[in-house]
Amino acid sequence: IKANNRNHYKVFESSISKDFKTILTMETELRKALKEDQLELHYQPQKNIETGQIVGLEALLRWKHPEWGYVPPATFIPLAEKTGLIFEIGEWVLKQACLQNKTWQAQGYPPFVVGVNLSAKQFYQKDLVDKVENILKESGLNANYLELEITESMAMSNEEDIFRTLEGLRALGVHVSIDDFGTGYSSLKYLSQFPISKLKIDRIFIHENRKQNEAIVKSIIHMSHSLNMKVIAEGVETEEQLEFLKTEQCDEMQGYYFSKPLPPHQLDRFFPKIV
Ligand code: C2E
Ligand code: CA
Ligand code: CA
Ligand code: CA
Repeated sequence: IKANNRNHYKVFESSISKDFKTILTMETELRKALKEDQLELHYQPQKNIETGQIVGLEALLRWKHPEWGYVPPATFIPLAEKTGLIFEIGEWVLKQACLQNKTWQAQGYPPFVVGVNLSAKQFYQKDLVDKVENILKESGLNANYLELEITESMAMSNEEDIFRTLEGLRALGVHVSIDDFGTGYSSLKYLSQFPISKLKIDRIFIHENRKQNEAIVKSIIHMSHSLNMKVIAEGVETEEQLEFLKTEQCDEMQGYYFSKPLPPHQLDRFFPKIV
């Protein structure tokens, strides 16, 4: 039994140092990824439920590591936040998404909004509005075709800086939406005062088939509309889910039922090109 215990301890110890090494390696590798062009954006279409038209695409970051394959963003974004690499990565994402959308427009595709996820650190940068303005200028994309996604916890605070940032983005013409809505703590007071264009209902309320969730989804849709915001359901995977959302007059949907996030060249199929 003694030997066994010692072994357990050893295994435990070595797994700690292994994790630590993994984190260090990952940080080094992530720096390399930026330099060596291993990052890609995939895009997931967002559909107007009533007309069936594609109205937007959400940009989702992909890291294609030469040995590890695709590393999911949920693994490396938190690390990027911790190490500060998120600033450089976030700027790359924003620039890339704007350039890509401008390219689609130049190719004659019907115009749509590109949605970009912002991390907390990125959103709290004092010069975020200037940065966004510069990227829009550089890419030539009209601000109306850019939407920034932030989460409830990032927005719902009394800080004057946050209000100023949101007002600044609005003044540029950029849309702001609240991602993963329903999972955080929203203050109705701020929701009604802040210049927010859209609520994105978190996948969990769509996915779990429970009466309670239906009630939550219904009330988020109603609330959005009474506050003059649009509302989109995330993670729609089945026809039943879509039918329910249609009945409840949810404006837009996004999810595997219609399409997974795809690399840019695979989106052609949704848009008959205007020549
Ligand atoms: P999110 O912003 O909530 O993005 C939606 C996630 O749900 C994406 O995962 C997407 O692939 C997935 N998804 C979409 N439709 C369905 C569906 O019908 N069923 C299921 N099961 N999943 C669906 P992904 O791409 O792995 O991204 C995970 C998270 O990583 C994102 O969650 C976002 O918080 C973060 N992220 C992704 N790209 C970026 C980025 O460029 N910057 C920052 N700061 N965060 C990002
Ligand atoms: Ca998002
Ligand atoms: Ca989300
Ligand atoms: Ca999320």
